[in-house]
Amino acid sequence: MHPAKAFAAFSADAPLGPFAFQRREPGATDVQIAIHYCGVCHSDLHHVRNEWHGTVYPCVPGHEIVGRVTAVGPSVTGFRVGDTVGVGCMVDSCHTCHNCRDGLEQFCAEGTIFTYNSPDKHTGGITYGGYSDSVVVDQSFVLRVDPKLDLAAAAPLLCAGITTWSPLRRWGVGKGQKVGVVGLGGLGHMGVKFAASFGAEVVLFTTSPGKAEDARRLGAGTVVVSKNRDEMNRHLNSFDFILDTVSASHDLNAYLPLLKRDATMVLVGAPELPLPVAAFNLIFQRHSLAGSLIGGVKETQEMLDYCAEHKITSDIELIPIQKINDAYDRMLKSDVKYRFVIDMASLGR
Ligand code: NAP
Ligand code: ZN
Repeated sequence: MHPAKAFAAFSADAPLGPFAFQRREPGATDVQIAIHYCGVCHSDLHHVRNEWHGTVYPCVPGHEIVGRVTAVGPSVTGFRVGDTVGVGCMVDSCHTCHNCRDGLEQFCAEGTIFTYNSPDKHTGGITYGGYSDSVVVDQSFVLRVDPKLDLAAAAPLLCAGITTWSPLRRWGVGKGQKVGVVGLGGLGHMGVKFAASFGAEVVLFTTSPGKAEDARRLGAGTVVVSKNRDEMNRHLNSFDFILDTVSASHDLNAYLPLLKRDATMVLVGAPELPLPVAAFNLIFQRHSLAGSLIGGVKETQEMLDYCAEHKITSDIELIPIQKINDAYDRMLKSDVKYRFVIDMASLGR
């Protein structure tokens, strides 16, 4: 065991603060990583405040991890000390169920081991995430990150990136299509970048008129302020695909009629409370409403390789970990441009 420094939530209604614990020594197939940067996902906030229920405290959030390898176990083949690597939302799975065999470890039939707040078979406790100076992860869940990328700006690719990439790929978004992205936060801004990069005509739906200029710079051809009914009505029956990244309660029925016949709206945002859906908005024009959860390891590597080739990273605000509670407050006000990333040097080495 070796000591790790971190920030943790100690209850649903207290600010995060310093926390010390032990990480395991790397086993045969483990990679030990010094964490340099960790993105701040809205899922961290949902967990910390127990909005999805089941949070075990203390909770060390963080699943957008980029760092360097500091040690490897004797059976590790793909990584060496000094490599630039990433860890996303998962750190283990059974490797043998049909979902794992299909490269969909996020749906492991035995239960995916997520990077934080999952049962940790090594310690008997729960997993602790990336708001920390180090982590030890089985090599099969370690990703390669091109060291030529801005590493702080690459960290959000590990969750915001793959979570938007995966549905855009699965539903075949590309040239000649009109694609909507709802919400310009961490996920939304990556959705806009990817959809534009795949050649689609991108429309950004936002509740923040002040984000319009940024949305255009990121790749949106059109920006619609979703509270404006007239603006919304102009897009009735016209979208091939809509990606909804909103983190809070909002009206899905405002978006479903904007889909073309047989088109799909995918939810990746995971608000605390259920969202009502009018059946008529699905029945007419045979619309589909679907969901998507992060992406598998192989697909995450493909996304990272694409980002390296196309020089795609997130637009970030780098913060010291001591500012994490302010960052959460700003996130709740939709005041994120467009991902907070923690500089782990602020923990002190
Ligand atoms: P974020 O950075 O806080 O962005 C969310 C955006 O949603 C805000 O910037 C805002 O955009 C919009 N929004 C917020 N409150 C709203 C409201 N009441 N009505 C309408 N729009 C609102 O959050 P994030 O990190 O991108 O995460 C978004 C959601 O995805 C969270 O629920 C998170 O837990 C979930 N998530 C899911 C997965 C998955 O695998 N499915 C993975 C990661 C995260 P505008 O200012 O443009 O309106
Ligand atoms: Zn996330």
